[in-house]
Amino acid sequence: MGGRDATMVLLDENGIRCDGRKIDEPRRIMIKAGGLKNADGSAYIEFGDNKILVGVFGPRDVHPKHMSNTDTGILRVRYHMEPFSVGERKNPAPSRREIEISKVIKEALEPAVMLEKFPRTAVDVFIEILQADGGTRCAALTAASVALADAGIPMRDMVAAIAAGKVADTVILDVNNEEDQAGQADMPIGYMPSAEKITLLQLDGVLTPEEYKKCVEVGVEGCKLVYDLQKKALNDKYFGNKGD
Ligand code: ADP
Repeated sequence: MGGRDATMVLLDENGIRCDGRKIDEPRRIMIKAGGLKNADGSAYIEFGDNKILVGVFGPRDVHPKHMSNTDTGILRVRYHMEPFSVGERKNPAPSRREIEISKVIKEALEPAVMLEKFPRTAVDVFIEILQADGGTRCAALTAASVALADAGIPMRDMVAAIAAGKVADTVILDVNNEEDQAGQADMPIGYMPSAEKITLLQLDGVLTPEEYKKCVEVGVEGCKLVYDLQKKALNDKYFGNKGD
């Protein structure tokens, strides 16, 4: 996907990555709660060059009715990439990748949402990827949690997400598109800090058991940074706390 420079240096002799970051440095992250008038809750995130908008609707009636559950509410997630979100126009038809990412984000959010509090209803989460640059599932999961909180959906906690990975035999935090394509491993992690629970963990690539452990540790620490920004976004909207 996209043109890759085979000679690109992923990690230089000073431990600096291809986009100028240190190994444990996340990209610039900006989260805004709210913004969509017609949604019950919404959020916008910029995670490096990823730009993602999330709208949440519900709890609302389920159509068709037989899809509803009398014991609990259901969560539905649609992850959608705009055709213009990547360098080469993406085919607008839903891809297997979008279906897979919708599923993993839904499963990563389910432990956080108190679905038992609204039986027979559905909460819909619409994720629009406006610009993609590696790590969209983590950025989208992070923004979806803020949008659910913004909608007032009862939650145990928010899920914060970021990827750890491996380039040039070194464990790094927050894998960008180049590192994802040319690196050795990519491990997206979603984490609920208050419960100390990992709700998303995927791995693309090969790691030794030690590297695996290190990736989880680095990823969880990264999630805690992301979590602070999620809380700040909600504080900014609801308590007018505009400070950095
Ligand atoms: P994630 O975005 O969660 O890292 P992937 O590892 O599947 O998910 O994708 C990595 C990156 O590849 C995406 O963030 C995006 O920048 C790019 N990409 C995904 N799908 C396409 C596509 N159809 N065309 C071009 N680039 C794509």
